[in-house]
Amino acid sequence: MTIPRVELPPDVRLDTLAVREGLPRTPWGENSEALFLTSSFVHPDAATAAARFANEEEAFVYSRFGNPTVTMMERRLAAMEGTGGCIGTASGMAAILLLILGLLKSGDHVVCSRSVFGSTIKLFQDFAKFGIETSFVSQTDPPQWRAAMRPGTKLLFAESPTNPLTEVCDIAALAGIAHAGGALLAVDNCLCSPALQRPAALGADLIIHSGTKYLDGQGRVIAGAVCGPQELVASKFVPVMRSAGMSLSPFNAWVVLKGLETLSVRMQAQSERALQLAHWLEAQPSVERVYYPGLPSHPQHALAMAQQSGRGGAVVSFIVEGERAAAFAAIDATRICSITANLGDTKTTITHPASTSHGRLSEAQRQAAGITQGMIRVAVGLEDIEDIKADLGRGLAGPAIKT
Ligand SMILES: *Cc1c(COP(=O)(O)O)cnc(C)c1O
Repeated sequence: MTIPRVELPPDVRLDTLAVREGLPRTPWGENSEALFLTSSFVHPDAATAAARFANEEEAFVYSRFGNPTVTMMERRLAAMEGTGGCIGTASGMAAILLLILGLLKSGDHVVCSRSVFGSTIKLFQDFAKFGIETSFVSQTDPPQWRAAMRPGTKLLFAESPTNPLTEVCDIAALAGIAHAGGALLAVDNCLCSPALQRPAALGADLIIHSGTKYLDGQGRVIAGAVCGPQELVASKFVPVMRSAGMSLSPFNAWVVLKGLETLSVRMQAQSERALQLAHWLEAQPSVERVYYPGLPSHPQHALAMAQQSGRGGAVVSFIVEGERAAAFAAIDATRICSITANLGDTKTTITHPASTSHGRLSEAQRQAAGITQGMIRVAVGLEDIEDIKADLGRGLAGPAIKT
């Protein structure tokens, strides 16, 4: 038995893959994909069980390393990223752990942007104790990446745009540097998702996802994935998953699978709202600076538009006059936005990075990272953007100036 594919006409486009790619229907003919909540699978006889355990026959055996609902999510996401292969993981961080465990060994070296997700930096730093060293370099300066390459460099790791500063890296340039040095490039595509940005088409070898964010899209589950060439996924990551078990639950996979169906329309609608909000914020007298790749004032605006299908994504950060007190006042005056550090939800979320996601850094580290006390990050959802502007307007500059 080989696990069959859904039969689609060749060359169907991303929006069709997002709704249709997966496994064929069961004999019951369900139109919505089935949720297979089962830990193990039954074999017709002992000899077949033996063949399946020995990998001589492809079949579902045990949900730690294979489940039809998880496989549907993996095939759909792989098709959307254009990578051929994908493996679901328990969380976005589990995806990065799987990447490290599958690809690297003691003595290997990693070059990583210093602007990536905080837990990603911590995880790479933690692997120093196992002999895997990481050099952190500027997100936006490819020559720094090239200069950091060593004979033992096996992996380059980037994320674009970054959170909360929305810095954009040149994925094609980093892929060129990686391949010239015999290394692989992995890109965390969390903030854009394949609806806006397909790093594999720009030369990236592996794509990391936190399914928790835009792939689910409604803030319900924790999930993750590594996408890459099918042979690489099968040879490097499936065996680690089988023994280490950072598995994606079928239920969470199902939620993400259904989230992928609306990903493209959500990313477009949320990006449009975010752009409107960013323009409005730029016009507010008490806002010192707005960070949003869709604004012409963004330092990598042209690169972002070329890499991200002409859209800026849904994360907007800005700095208010008056430091922490003014930022807290603006956040506390909102009555619609959710005060939470999560992002990728249809509900707009608002957070103060310096005291939450970046709260464990020293003030000097925060200054170096550009995360000031006046900074607020908004992850724009699907509410009417006029209501979100009004919600932020309540606390900006205080009632004395605003009329
Ligand atoms: C949230 C996030 C992660 C981690 O994902 P989890 O699902 O929370 O483990 C990794 N990278 C980026 C860019 C994120 O925003």
